[in-house]
Amino acid sequence: MKAAKEVAAGSKVWEFKLGAIIVLKGKVVASGVNEYRTHPKFGSGYHNRLHAEGGAIYNSVRQGIDLEGATLYVYRLPTGRTAKPCLSCEQMLRDHKIRRVVFSAIGYEHGIDGSAT
Ligand SMILES: [Zn+2]
Repeated sequence: MKAAKEVAAGSKVWEFKLGAIIVLKGKVVASGVNEYRTHPKFGSGYHNRLHAEGGAIYNSVRQGIDLEGATLYVYRLPTGRTAKPCLSCEQMLRDHKIRRVVFSAIGYEHGIDGSAT
């Protein structure tokens, strides 16, 4: 999780920074951060957001790494209130047979705005 936290610090998204690492057979094989990407059709005024989990999977696929049985760690800065992947990332995790997902969840039991849930 410490490595995922260090990766998250590299995100340039101002609202919050997410970092993801993928560990396979005890070794970090890929990482990703949440980031904005310029839309190919609408240009720089319109941004798509790439999620950290998707970025880590994308980076591993580019290297030709088979992720079956891997573990994905995700950390959010400044607080660890993210508790699960979005539906799109969840589907990618299933498609690539990632066996385990570990999210930072500090304070999550109090809700995203600090309210009790
Ligand atoms: Zn996502």
